Amino acid sequence: MELKWYNRLRWKLFFLYFAISFVPLVIFSLTMNTVLENYFEARNEQNLLYQANKLAGTIKSNNYLTDPALSVKFSNDLDEKSTELSARIIVLDKDSVVIADTNRSETDKILIIPEVLDALQGSAAVNLREDTGKIYASAGIDDQDGQILGAILLVYGSNEIYEMLASLSHDWLFLTIFISIIIAVIVYITSSRIIKPLSRLVDSIGKIADGDLRERVDIKNKNEIGVLGNAINIMAEKLESEDSSRSEFVSNVSHELKTPLSSIKVLSESILLQDTAPEEMYKEFLQDINSEIDRMTNIINDLLSLVKLDNRESGLNLKEINLRKMLIGIMKTLYPLAKVKDIELTLEADKDIAIEADETKLSLAISNLIDNAIKYTPAEGVVKVTLENDHQNAFISVMDTGIGISEEEQPKIFNRFYRTDKTRDRETGGTGLGLAITHSTVLLHSGSIKVLSKEGSGAAFIVRLPIKQGKEEK
Ligand code: ADP
Repeated sequence: MELKWYNRLRWKLFFLYFAISFVPLVIFSLTMNTVLENYFEARNEQNLLYQANKLAGTIKSNNYLTDPALSVKFSNDLDEKSTELSARIIVLDKDSVVIADTNRSETDKILIIPEVLDALQGSAAVNLREDTGKIYASAGIDDQDGQILGAILLVYGSNEIYEMLASLSHDWLFLTIFISIIIAVIVYITSSRIIKPLSRLVDSIGKIADGDLRERVDIKNKNEIGVLGNAINIMAEKLESEDSSRSEFVSNVSHELKTPLSSIKVLSESILLQDTAPEEMYKEFLQDINSEIDRMTNIINDLLSLVKLDNRESGLNLKEINLRKMLIGIMKTLYPLAKVKDIELTLEADKDIAIEADETKLSLAISNLIDNAIKYTPAEGVVKVTLENDHQNAFISVMDTGIGISEEEQPKIFNRFYRTDKTRDRETGGTGLGLAITHSTVLLHSGSIKVLSKEGSGAAFIVRLPIKQGKEEK
């Protein structure tokens, strides 16, 4: 059966942690053993040689070899020393005959081994015999004149070292197993602590992906996973609000298109039902139908512009454009509209300011603002457009002396289809999409837009556009 992802992750984490802690432990204990072994051997050989020399000195200074009266004390001394060193002590005369043996087995026998011969020649020796596993250390015993009187031989069963080392590695083994178990438990607990919230995250993401946009991740941790969970919640909130604004948008579109369609239906039916309608009535009704069709066309054109702006793949056709020239062009086309209402339309732009922008889209965005200003300013009012800049940004302001926008409504006017209470019923021919188009366009240019207004005393829209795309500060 295939393992679930979190079980695979758990095993991966487990092996990783385990390898990281367990492998060094094993390497450490193995090298430790060899190092200790070498150290103990070296130390023992040197120590034994030192003890042999020291004992030879004691025998010499106590005259143990020359004074037969001291033989009992000598023998006791040797036994004591033998126990202390855990070594067999053999003393030989200058003819290699054993005078004393703490094991009592070799007494009076002749013992000819290289260490003894070396010692009788006056040079102390120490050897580890691989065959017996014992260390032999010897030293010559001389008299006051430096004449060799005999030799001393210490035999140390170095097996003891191995026994000690064996017991040590036994301890090591237990310690290693013990530590490994502790590590395994810790690793299991930690990996669960990582995996549980992760699997909860994955569950929630799965539900969100399946369309349950109200699902939220419930993670209290303040760690990385908590941060991730938080980010996912923010994303889910965005998705949910996108979703609801999309349904709202669709219902708005349907509603906006339904109104002209119903009027067309009523108008055409009333003509159809009258058998003998006068020609003027036909004309009047057809004119009304025509203007409803114009309204629908406007809405659909605006919607198409918005869809293009939303579809980021179509992107911006960026070119260096001269904002002053662009504004002069817009003013020319809108001037007739202002003239009809006897509105004073002015442009204040004394510098050529070049920015990188999509001229067609930006032109439409700014036209919308000036068009609104003319639309929502009563006859004989003033609409003033200004162009300014600082090091990084260009600023276009559109100010009017019109009906203004109340503070509560200001945040909503950039929403699609939103129209303020004051203008909703008026026959201004608006679609409620103009500011949404302007807003999206300005955002696409990495700029910003704000509105300053007081109900009844005009409005000012200020657009900020970075001069170089992609280089403005966050
Ligand atoms: P519309 O097509 O209705 O003008 P917009 O999206 O351009 O749609 O504007 C949304 C609403 O914002 C308008 O209906 C109007 O109520 C308000 N508005 C926009 N510009 C102004 C302005 N200069 N003065 C007063 N109200 C404005």
